Amino acid sequence: MSATFASFGLIDALLGAVDTLGYKTPTPVQVQAIPVILAGRDLMAAAQTGTGKTAGFALPLLQRLTMEGPQVASNCVRVLVLVPTRELAEQVYQSFCEYGAHVPLRMAVAYGGVSINPQMMKLRKGLDVLVATPGRLLDLYRQNAVKFTQLQTLVLDEADRMLDLGFSRELNAVFEALPKRRQTLLFSATFSDAIRTMAATLLVDPVSVEVSPRNAAAKTVKQWLVPVDKKRKPELFLHLLKKKRWGQVLVFVKTRKGVEQLVDTLAAKGVSADSIHGDKPQPARLRALERFKAAEVQVLVATDVAARGLDIDDLPQVVNFDLPIVAEDYVHRIGRTGRAGATGEAVSLVCADEVQLLSAIETLIRQTLVRIDVPEFEPDHRVPMTDGRGQVLKKPKKPKKPKFGPGRPAK
Ligand code: AMP
Repeated sequence: MSATFASFGLIDALLGAVDTLGYKTPTPVQVQAIPVILAGRDLMAAAQTGTGKTAGFALPLLQRLTMEGPQVASNCVRVLVLVPTRELAEQVYQSFCEYGAHVPLRMAVAYGGVSINPQMMKLRKGLDVLVATPGRLLDLYRQNAVKFTQLQTLVLDEADRMLDLGFSRELNAVFEALPKRRQTLLFSATFSDAIRTMAATLLVDPVSVEVSPRNAAAKTVKQWLVPVDKKRKPELFLHLLKKKRWGQVLVFVKTRKGVEQLVDTLAAKGVSADSIHGDKPQPARLRALERFKAAEVQVLVATDVAARGLDIDDLPQVVNFDLPIVAEDYVHRIGRTGRAGATGEAVSLVCADEVQLLSAIETLIRQTLVRIDVPEFEPDHRVPMTDGRGQVLKKPKKPKKPKFGPGRPAK
């Protein structure tokens, strides 16, 4: 018999919230994580965005906090959730608010780039749940605005990403400040050696759960690439948008400048587009996301860092206008589509310069991406073939007269 939310023994207030959100059955990560977290154990979970991991930790933590009763002292925090970016912080916080809509708990979110004072005010009365980025949390700690004496649970969400973004110093400083006796939950899409080392020092006798094969891209996403010359990418994108009749598209571009250029090109062609990147103030990023979610714009163009944690339901189309520099980001990017069983499509526009990036991605996801040539966009600069095992296959040379003899390496 398949698990239900009720079978975990969740209280009615949480079951009601889940029901309101229309969740019928728990996802695999929820099935595995919820009982472990309710039992107070440490957890190490390989789960990428889109698997339902947020509810996987939020629901059991809300249940435990509620059952124990509100008892938080000023400036103290009982559950601390660390996340890599502001966007993810907002998203995880919103999820806690939704799941915890009917329980009497105090929750808040704290990240940099916005005024620290309102965050300090919220902390003054103490918080049951604080969702924070590491840098801002440390600022708050150093200003005595947050204390960890009552901390019960630490959640590291997208731990791999926090390390990729260079937060290891901040994280270590936070870990130093936390009580040793606590529950620790570590979620990560990928498990590099650095993550494993971190897990080994932080977790005590953890239960490991893995909901998708390690480093494998979401199975429900159809992935393909189009070889194209770099300068023709905007034109190709417009062509595909029209020809394939794409609805809403999330497009990833390498640089902030590139993002703005593409938005301008699209606008000039009458395609409604908005952008999310690090140069934009946080309110403007949130506004762009809201407009996209409300379908007021067709295309949202983003850089990787800014797009981290975007929660967009039912997004059928992701386009990698540029390939990511860090191969893991490919997995995160396409994690935006094909969520919770829905099918999606991820298309990469790849130019000759990017062949090494392509090769790294294919090695990570252990598959060679299907190439589809688009007539009239075949590149002048050929994209060398790759074999999915990290090899870039050189251009086949014109057959020469066979030479035999010493000194010629055997094939
Ligand atoms: P996450 O991996 O936590 O970012 O969740 C991905 C998406 O799945 C979010 O939009 C959630 O609202 C949704 N979701 C989470 N759990 C369930 C569930 N049991 N059934 C349906 N949708 C879910």
